[in-house]
Formats: sequence, structure tokens, C-alpha cells
Amino acid sequence: MKKERLSCISENLSRDSTPNMDRSWISDEYENGVEEFLQFAQQNAPEMGGLYLCPCFKCLNGRRQSLNDIRTRLICDGISPTYTKWIWHGELP
Ligand SMILES: [Zn+2]
Repeated sequence: MKKERLSCISENLSRDSTPNMDRSWISDEYENGVEEFLQFAQQNAPEMGGLYLCPCFKCLNGRRQSLNDIRTRLICDGISPTYTKWIWHGELP
């Protein structure tokens, strides 16, 4: 349920403005969602040399990043609005 909120907030972001480094839109809820995602990925996702597929708005799970980079990207760029099932990070479809 939280995940859907995460994508929903991210979708509003991409609709309303070009993603940039303005962090004023970030809510505690979104940040908690990001942390929750990072934890989930760390526990469930297949990693490759410490790198995980990045679900941010720009990579769309097409590139691998460290968890720290993923956190920054999710906060700066937003998470892909369509990524509500974390299938690339160990969640069953
Ligand atoms: Zn990314």
C-alpha cells in the first residue's frame, strides 16, 4: 500500500515539474518509502558487486547503482511511477 503512495507521489512530481534538485516537494512519507525500498532491495534483490538495478525515473531499472546512489536518485528524480511491484528487486509478480 505504501508502495503505491510512493509511486503516486512520484507521478505527481513528474507531471507538475521537471525533475531537478529542488527537494522542497519531498515529504517524510516519500523519504520513508525510499528507505523502505532500499531495505527491501538489500534483503531481496540480486546484487552484483554491491550494485542494484535503479528504479528511478531516469534509469527505469535499466542501470545498476549503489544503494547510496539509488537513494539520491529516488529523491532527486523520483521513482518510476509504474514500478509498483518491485519485480526487479525480489518481489514476486
Ligand atoms: Zn536511477
